[in-house]
Order: sequence, then structure tokens, then C-alpha cells
Amino acid sequence: MRMKRLRLTIAGAVQGVGFRPFVFRLATTAGLTGWVTNTAHGVLLEVEGREGLLESFREAIERDKPSLSIITGIRDEWLEPAYHDGFEIRKSLPGRPEAIVLPDIATCPKCLAEISDPSDRRYGYPFTNCTNCGPRYSIIRALPYDRISTTMATFEMCPDCLREYEDPADRRFHAQPNACPVCGPSLALWDTSGNILAEGREALLKVADAVRMGQIAAVKGLGGFHLIAPASSALAIEELRSRKRRRRKPFALMFPSMDSIRSHCQLSSSEEALLESPQSPIVLLRKKDPTEVTVRLPEIIAPGNPYLGVMLPYTPLHHLLMQELNAPVIATSGNISDEPICIDESEALERLSGLADIFLVHDRPIHRHVDDSIVKMSGERMVILRRARGYAPLPMEADRELPVMLAFGAHLKNTLALSIGRNVFISQHIGDLETPQAARAFDEVRESIEDLYHARPVSVIHDLHPDYISTARASSDPLPSRGIQHHLAHLASCMLENAAVPPLAGVSWDGAGYGPDGTVWGGEIFHITDERCLRAGHLRTFRLPGGSRAVKEPRRSAAGLLFEMNLDPFKYLPKDSFREEEITGLLALLRTGTNSPVTSSMGRLFDAAASLCGLFPRIEFEGEAAMAFEYAIPAIPVTDAYTAPVRGDISSGMVLDWEPMFHELLRDLSNGVEVPMISTKFHNALVTWIVTSAELVGEERVALSGGCFQNTYLMMKSETALKEKGFLPLVHGKIPPNDGGIAPGQLFAAACLPSLIERS
Ligand code: ZN
Ligand code: ZN
Ligand code: FE
Repeated sequence: MRMKRLRLTIAGAVQGVGFRPFVFRLATTAGLTGWVTNTAHGVLLEVEGREGLLESFREAIERDKPSLSIITGIRDEWLEPAYHDGFEIRKSLPGRPEAIVLPDIATCPKCLAEISDPSDRRYGYPFTNCTNCGPRYSIIRALPYDRISTTMATFEMCPDCLREYEDPADRRFHAQPNACPVCGPSLALWDTSGNILAEGREALLKVADAVRMGQIAAVKGLGGFHLIAPASSALAIEELRSRKRRRRKPFALMFPSMDSIRSHCQLSSSEEALLESPQSPIVLLRKKDPTEVTVRLPEIIAPGNPYLGVMLPYTPLHHLLMQELNAPVIATSGNISDEPICIDESEALERLSGLADIFLVHDRPIHRHVDDSIVKMSGERMVILRRARGYAPLPMEADRELPVMLAFGAHLKNTLALSIGRNVFISQHIGDLETPQAARAFDEVRESIEDLYHARPVSVIHDLHPDYISTARASSDPLPSRGIQHHLAHLASCMLENAAVPPLAGVSWDGAGYGPDGTVWGGEIFHITDERCLRAGHLRTFRLPGGSRAVKEPRRSAAGLLFEMNLDPFKYLPKDSFREEEITGLLALLRTGTNSPVTSSMGRLFDAAASLCGLFPRIEFEGEAAMAFEYAIPAIPVTDAYTAPVRGDISSGMVLDWEPMFHELLRDLSNGVEVPMISTKFHNALVTWIVTSAELVGEERVALSGGCFQNTYLMMKSETALKEKGFLPLVHGKIPPNDGGIAPGQLFAAACLPSLIERS
């Protein structure tokens, strides 16, 4: 057979995953000569030999590629032989970076075995990693991904580590954060003034002692600090709640093992797989029935919530600490509520003073903050609710090339997104832009996402809300800016995820988004065609007395709704909802319309229903009342539904009328019908609205997006009902349905969708 030379240009997540050693082994075992190198775009290689061998080599590249790698494109060039000697791994080529930065990856089984083996040189070493695991995004300063461009640059490898790093046959060949106890980062235990109490192994043992005794420890991890407290101690958790000023919002837990999770939570095989995946997210798991649990965890971890947010250790440090403790701990972000997670130890002393009793720190700098991701299983589908560690900054792939643009997201659960070619890179979760710290984190992510990819965006895309910090940042930006309506952005993110093109119907339901007509939108139905994005319908509007205060006080939504029904709000609201003098004030607001914006928000409709049922007159965090209402649905729900008419049609504008539903709901309440029944009938009515709206719009595909679709019951019921009627529902999985998905949606809408019109 003839000698040939094959050149492959491989794009995707192919750096820092052992791709070059894989190519090296593949080529040398087949007796092929040539070379392989990292470029700013990915991997470039040449192999030469007999044609048949080259063909099997080409097949094996895609078939046997390293497990963490993602190939997004391969270009083949067949050339005349150049007669290379042997096979070599060449130095990286510089250039404009386009390679995909990998997320941080949970400790692999081999590294875990090493730190647990007393005869291994990495026994008990908390910074062990290899090509298959360890920090990436949180330590990368620039591309191409080489040690010099990471926060490991200041650590010089010892001869043993260097040997591993340079040996293509070694698991640590070019593992950029490679380290060992001799040459790598180390632990220290600080008191609240930064005095060193212990170092190395002793620091770990002492912090474990402190936690066991009920103290709160700040632990510097992979993408930031955690606050750690014993999960068995209601007293310690109570203390943590009061220090964090967080009364009810659930805390996440880290468990020492799958078995320990199983003794507290219901676990499916797909949930187990998620917990053990390289992404190692927080998974929302149903609590076990109290009668099946031997030792119960305190209710105050997640009060009134049927779920626990659960994760397994994902770095060697967490593994070692959890081995020592051998009991679940609270592992919540190191911050005061609503601020971004703290990443730097000296900053931690200041920001977490008063929160933590003791600090476990280390000297490997964290270049960018990366929170724990939160996911849940919705039937057999994974839905990401907070996209950060393990997932960010992996791109979503669009079905076409997009201009280079930067999107600034919304206000809550903020993320940024950057489009380059077909890739839409989504930043890690930044959080609610409520504090100066959050605004600073936004600016840092904005700068670093641009720097990382050497991107020169042509424009910035933002929300229409004039008061959002993200909007203000866009207006003061030197680049031309363009606004995209909030609920259209939600739907566009769903379209991006599903590679969907018009025409389709869109159901975009959430708490609030700015409507161009000056009202607060949130219960919207769209008809998206190649010509226009039509707001085809919406929830019947009502007033929110007190404006933004109504977001924190579901009882105000109920008052606004009852007022719209010409009913006396205070006859129907639970007795203790309002005080006498508040009532008079509220009625005055509603009668005059003062500070009582008009809304079509589905989130507020949930609030109204929940508070009429006596759940949460005031809430602590977004969606709390709606979540409690969802959780009230019994395990085996009824199919009964409240009446849910859709008035009008697509040309006149459809209105989802809630009045009959609420008359029935009030009647049920006065007849003493239980909340689980009321909640089920309410949810089923919403499904009716979705199906009727889909029928009126008349397109096969129906996209479901917005924060309301974090509601598993609503999501799954709507999906089933739509399918039964012959529709094709499009839903979220990798892009959050909540405002964390707004930024990628803004990009997709700006690049690919026609403009919004409010009425045809
Ligand atoms: Zn490893
Ligand atoms: Zn070393
Ligand atoms: Fe939203």
C-alpha cells in the first residue's frame, strides 16, 4: 500500500484532557510517524504511514478520544509523505485562542486511590490532580492552556512531578496543575485574625475537630470559600443562619459517601450517576420519608422543603476532610446572602469575619470564582438550575455562525454570554446584581471572558429594563448596544438549546420582566415566525400594590388580584395577612393606581394563590411561595383542574383569564378543601392554558421557558399534555430555564430572531 501523510485540525475541548498523549500512543502503537501540537484553535497533528493504517488511525481518533474531550470539528487533509522521523509532541503554537476552556473537573478514581494509599507519594495530599481531573477554569488566566498561564505558574515542579509531566505514557503528561507535597500548594489553618494555627495535615485534622465540635469553618476550595458546619447540629445551623442572615433558604450538604446520601435521600440511578459525574454538581434529591430514616437531619437545613441539595466531595481536599469527618456537613457558599462567593483568603478574613470561627486556607490562588452548580432530575432529564462548576464555560453550539457579541443577562441569577462562530460561551453564575460586590464580579467576568477568548465583540446585548445594573453597564459601554425583551430572551435560550428554528409557539412564564408597554410581563405567549416575534397572548393583568415590595410579599399579589375581581381583599385573605392600618393604605394604592404597576406575571399569580392558601405572606427568596405551593402537591395527584379559559385569539390577542379559576379556588377554601388539592387543581389549570394557547397559535413546536418551568410538576405535566395533543414541546436542560439562561438567549435572539411586535 502507498505511503500517505494525514493532517488533522481538531477543534473543541481538546486541551488539558490528555489528547496529545492519546494521539501519541495511538500513532506509536500503529508504527506511524509525525507530530502533534496544541494550537490556539485546538489540536493540530500529522501522521504518516500506509494508507490503511492512517484510515484506522482516523477512525480511532473520534471513537477512542479521551473521556473529557469534546470534538466540535475535524478537518482532514491528505498529503504526500514528508518522511518524518518517529513521533513527537511539539510545543504549543501561539495565536488567537479559540480552543474551548474546560470546566473544573472532580477528582478521578485514580487520584482518589493515590491520596488514600499510605505507600503513595501523594498520600493525603489535598492538591492531587491529573490530566483527567482537577482545576481548570478557576485557575486559567489565559489561553493556550499551559502551566505558565495558570495560577500554578509560581509553583516549580519537583523532579518527580516534572518526570510525570514530560512522560507521554504518564497519566500526568502535561497535566498543568500537577503537584505533590514536595513542590505544590499546601494547607494552613488560620484564626479569625489570620494567625497560623496549624499547617498541612495538622490543619486538616484540626479543622475537622472544630467542625465536629459545632464550629463554623470557612474552607477555601476550588472556586471559592465554603462555610462548613456539622449537618447533625441544629444549634450550629441555627447559628450559621443568623450569621448569614438567611432564615429559611435551604443549605446545600456535602456527604462523605453515596451510602450516607442513600440513608437520607431517595436516589435513582441517574441521580447517582450525576452525583458521581466529573461535574459533581449539587443534586436536588427528595428527602426520604422520616419513618425510613434512622438518624434524621435537622429540619432547619431546608425547612418545609421536600428536597435536599446534595453533593459528594469533588476535590482531594474535600475527600480528605469528609473522610476525617465521616458525616454530612452543610457546605454553603462563603458569603453573606446575595453576595458573590469569596475566593481570596485575605479578602475572606474581612468579608467572612463574623461568619466563620476558623479558616482553612491554601496558597493556590483562585483566578475566578466558580460556585457549585445545582441540577435536578425532571423525570429522566437533567435540568441545570445554576450553571457554574463543572459546566461553565462550556459553550452551547448554535445551528449557525453568530457574530461576535457579548450579552449582559438580566438582574437575578446573572450570567454573561459571548458568541464566537457557532459557539455560545456562557459564563459561570454570578448571582443577583444587588450588591456592589456582585456588580464588581459582573465587571470582572465581563473583562475576563473577553480576554480569555481575545474576543472583539461588535455589540453588547442587554435586557430592556432601564433600572437593571446590567442595562446600565450596556449603556455606558463603548460598544453599540441593543436591548432584547426578557421573555423573548427566555424563549430564544430554549430555541438555542434545542437547535429550533421558527415557526413555533413559545410559553414564557416567570416572575417579572420589563415589557415595552411599560407593564411588568411574566405570563407571555409568543408566536415566532421568520417575519416576527409576536406577543400573541398574556395572562390577564392585575395591579401589584407597592410595586417591588409585592415581590417580597405574596400577600400583595393576592390583594391586587382580589381587587381586580371586585372582591374585598381582606375578606378572603388569611386573617393574619395584614394589619388594620396596612389594609387602608393598600386599598388607597389600588384605587388610585399609585405605585401599583400592572402585571401579567405568572409568578405573581402563583404568589397570589399560595398566599390565599396561607403559605408565606412574606418570602425570603425568589420563588419561595411558588415552591411551597408546588411541594404541596401530593405524591399521587388528581387530574381535576380549575377552569382556565383563554379569551380571544391570536389575531386579537389571547388573554389567559384567571378569574373563574380564583372564584373556584376561593370556594374551595371556604369549603375547607385542603391545600394539596387546591394546589393540584391550580397547576392542572395552568397546563390547560398551555395546551389551549398552543392550539390557538397552531404551530407544532411549543417552547417552554422562564423560571416557572423550574417547577417539575408544571414542566412534566405540560410536556405530557402537549405530546398527547400532537405537539412537540421544547424544554430546558443544559441552559437554565430561569434568568441564568437570559444571556445566551439574548445573543440568539439578537442574531437570529426577527423583532418583537406586541400585536399583529
Ligand atoms: Zn486524576
Ligand atoms: Zn512535586
Ligand atoms: Fe425571567
